[in-house]
Amino acid sequence: MNKTCFCDFDFEAALAKRGSVTKGYFNVACKPDGSWVKFPIIVVSGVEDGPRLLVDGAHHGDEYEGVQAIIETANALDPKKLKGTFIGVPVLNMEAFMYGSRISPMDYSTLNLNRAYPGTPQGFITSRIVDAYLQNIVKKATNIITFHGGGDALYLEPLASYIPGNDSAEASYKMAKAFGVEILWRMEDVPFGGFLNAEAAKLGIPCITPEVGSQSIQHPYANRRRHIEICATGITNVMKSLCMIEGDIVPQAEKQIDITLIYLCSDAGGIHVVKKMPVESFVKGEVLAEIFDVFGEKVGETLAPEDGVMVGYGVYPVVLPGNWSILYGRVNS
Ligand SMILES: [Zn+2]
Repeated sequence: MNKTCFCDFDFEAALAKRGSVTKGYFNVACKPDGSWVKFPIIVVSGVEDGPRLLVDGAHHGDEYEGVQAIIETANALDPKKLKGTFIGVPVLNMEAFMYGSRISPMDYSTLNLNRAYPGTPQGFITSRIVDAYLQNIVKKATNIITFHGGGDALYLEPLASYIPGNDSAEASYKMAKAFGVEILWRMEDVPFGGFLNAEAAKLGIPCITPEVGSQSIQHPYANRRRHIEICATGITNVMKSLCMIEGDIVPQAEKQIDITLIYLCSDAGGIHVVKKMPVESFVKGEVLAEIFDVFGEKVGETLAPEDGVMVGYGVYPVVLPGNWSILYGRVNS
């Protein structure tokens, strides 16, 4: 018997029940101990018709700030004052989230949930989660915010990304601007595929990927709260821009810049010393990071291949050959 995508959560009923809040789990696959691989859903169905905004967190289990913002935003919404529907999926990759890991330990082969779209109902667990989520939830949405962050690996200045050059690009760009942070990432020439934002673009669903927070900035605790609040303000800003709730958009930066994000990997392995901080500008040829061996000899540098602005860097003080050293933005006009 194929139990994949068996669903104990009546999503259609939750959507149809105007003026209500429904919470539950969507079951994906049954584990050897009889418990389910599942993800939580919160549906806040407004009294009036309107957009269906899907907001998800923890495609990567070590990226927490969006998760908390989704929970708090959903709990603060009043269905009587909501036009349309808020669909919150605070933790998509529950198995990874429970262990504070970027990816799930459950697959036979290592799979990154946000590189596994469109997934398959016959695949490993991560591939099944993607398929179940895409077919049953994502395709019902009119707009999507899919949260990410630096997790254990990166410090990233808060940004909101969108994909240009498709039918939903203009609406996605408006959502990214409304989110309100300084950096807007125009996602072109991305060095990977199989991620939700790209899948949404194929489906014509406006979608943004905010990247906010990381483990490196969570102490003192006030830093974590600040990043959760950036996420929460971003969600309500987008909801205001879609006329789902009333109120003025709250800017989260004095200015906004549109960039293309470039990943620079280190050729050398060693102790990683970052020389420029977000959101410093630099010119072609400047040293962005230096790498030293354990005798203190410099063994490598990460150089700016062009003018740009710093967006993030690898936070672990040791870098391996081929790993992320610096993320910078090529500023678009
Ligand atoms: Zn992520």
